[in-house]
Amino acid sequence: MGRIIAIDGPSGAGKSTISKLLAEKLGFMYIDTGAMYRTAALLALEAGIPLTDGRRVAELCGDLEFSFRVEGDRVRVVCNGRDVTAAIRTHEMGMHASDVSKNPEVREALVELQRALGRRHDAILEGRDIGTVVFPDADVKFFLDASLDERARRRHKELAEKGEAVTFEEVRETMRKRDMNDSRRAIAPLRPAEDAIHIDTTGKDIPAVIDELVQHIRERIS
Ligand code: C5P
Repeated sequence: MGRIIAIDGPSGAGKSTISKLLAEKLGFMYIDTGAMYRTAALLALEAGIPLTDGRRVAELCGDLEFSFRVEGDRVRVVCNGRDVTAAIRTHEMGMHASDVSKNPEVREALVELQRALGRRHDAILEGRDIGTVVFPDADVKFFLDASLDERARRRHKELAEKGEAVTFEEVRETMRKRDMNDSRRAIAPLRPAEDAIHIDTTGKDIPAVIDELVQHIRERIS
């Protein structure tokens, strides 16, 4: 079993940026579990399977192989040899992922893949339920958060840079709905583990947050 660092929190809290940099700094494998739910939604849509059909979507997920290649500040998500990065990183696919992730069968299939990856490597996993469900015995657990306005600003900037025509208000509203969806679902809802370290990233720059996390990690992992 590798050492595991869990990073949970709502969308736009800074999880991806922070997890990637931290993984590079510590030499841990980076696992983006949100990208796995996004890919499940993408494959279901392509196959014409309704996102509510948990059993059939889960069947698609069973034999998927993911790799997350960190290249500077970007991550290339490769699933069964196909680069899905651009297709899954859209505003819409975030909401589809949230819908698909409510299915217990889909969660079961993807959690199994996440555990298998984590067992083989020292890994940083980012998601919603890493510290509560996927790896409740993780060596260190963080819960990152920030105000809704700040999270929406960050996500809007990211999407605008990629040329997606979506307004700040649309991003803010979708984000609010998606977080509500994720927090209120029956299985593995978005919530901090009891022993998670809470970090509010509002108004903080990335290096400052990384330093804060590294300090906590050093105290817990030798
Ligand atoms: O993190 P990201 O925005 O890519 O996640 C997309 C969606 O996937 C989330 O809104 C959530 O519904 C789902 N998800 C999840 N459990 C995880 C990671 C993501 O349910 N561990």
